[in-house]
Amino acid sequence: MRIGIHTSIAGALENSAHRAAELSANTFQIFSSSPRQWKASIPTAPAVAAFRKAREKHGLDPLVIHDNYLINLASSHESVRKLSIEAFRGELARAILIGADYLVAHPGNYKGCSIEQGILNFLQGVAAAAADLRFEKLMLLIENTVGAGAQLGSRFEELHVMREYGAQMTDLSIGFCLDTCHLLASGYDVATAEGLKKTMAEADRLLGIDNVRVIHANDSKTPLGSHVDRHANIGEGYIGLEGFRRILGSPRLRNKAFILETPVDKDGDDRRNLETLKSLCPRSRTTTTRSS
Ligand SMILES: [Zn+2]
Ligand SMILES: [Zn+2]
Repeated sequence: MRIGIHTSIAGALENSAHRAAELSANTFQIFSSSPRQWKASIPTAPAVAAFRKAREKHGLDPLVIHDNYLINLASSHESVRKLSIEAFRGELARAILIGADYLVAHPGNYKGCSIEQGILNFLQGVAAAAADLRFEKLMLLIENTVGAGAQLGSRFEELHVMREYGAQMTDLSIGFCLDTCHLLASGYDVATAEGLKKTMAEADRLLGIDNVRVIHANDSKTPLGSHVDRHANIGEGYIGLEGFRRILGSPRLRNKAFILETPVDKDGDDRRNLETLKSLCPRSRTTTTRSS
């Protein structure tokens, strides 16, 4: 299975790959520039070459980039949307340059307009940002959210609409990233066997499980339907160890990349979370899970 973690590019782009390998991850996620600044730095050709080499050496696959936190393509404010489109275009260009497989993006916040207008703003923003860029393998993954206030993307129905309409507006292929913490907080009960089964069926019906490429594996500090986004260490939140064992054991999720975005409150939390996640993976060939 592909089990990885978000690592930092501080110091040098390639450091993120070395750190992921050090932690025994076989996939990883990064920010390609500072996630809290509009102005992005563009990696130099030698930095990209060193990064690609490190990634190959360590067998890290796939590479996921998470977009900047400031970007809000759904915004009802013209000025914010304009800045967001420009920044998102930079995200796409850097993702191509670095050789990323997936760019994960939050659909944004539609405060001040209708949800329909928010979705339209988001898609028009993506299409404008992607115009004239060439995508060999890069896929945009829209991430589900907790649905706090006017946050888009907490319901599979919304995500479904984004992909359907998005396909008519841009050549950039669109899939999904599901965050386990966000699922629980938005009201999908992935912590219980029954709830997970129901959520998976809903996801398959509305998103298509094949279109879900990445799972953000985060436990949740807040309970089912809280609409509050607080990541917890694996096993220390409302999903719990058994919850994650079921998620990781789900035959239809076996080929997804699981990426941790858990807090590092004390030294070694990242390593511990990775080890925990791995220990909960079904052992290949020795399990008798039936996929019906
Ligand atoms: Zn996430
Ligand atoms: Zn989150």
